[in-house]
Amino acid sequence: MSSQKNKPLPQDGNGSSPDKKKLSAREEKLQEIKNELLKQKEVILCEAETAMTVLPEQTVFPDLGDQASAETDRSFMLKLRGREQRLLKKIEEAVERIDCGTFGICEVCGEPIDIKRLRARPVTTMCIACKTEQEEDEKQSGH
Ligand SMILES: [Zn+2]
Repeated sequence: MSSQKNKPLPQDGNGSSPDKKKLSAREEKLQEIKNELLKQKEVILCEAETAMTVLPEQTVFPDLGDQASAETDRSFMLKLRGREQRLLKKIEEAVERIDCGTFGICEVCGEPIDIKRLRARPVTTMCIACKTEQEEDEKQSGH
């Protein structure tokens, strides 16, 4: 009786409600994509970290909390290569859009983007029709 774990729940609600808001199939897929994105982000960060293990003794400031980690983050970001930075930013933006429910909506025509396309290219912001059109335009004007 005494060994009950008393873990804090950061999220609202007690998970035992059977009437929990049910995700639609598309929303479920979006959550999967989000998990993929978060994994991808971790991989990038991990690789970047490995690349900078040559740092002198790392100092940890437990008392300064956020400020210190913000400083660390900044210098960390500076060390990331441009391509990784851009990708990271795209990933973060995509995750944000998933969280606020605007992910997967074409920014040009406002139609939902095909889930298969989103899975293949989660950071895309255009449906395939608009993207194709844009590429056609680029081809024509850049010729
Ligand atoms: Zn579109």
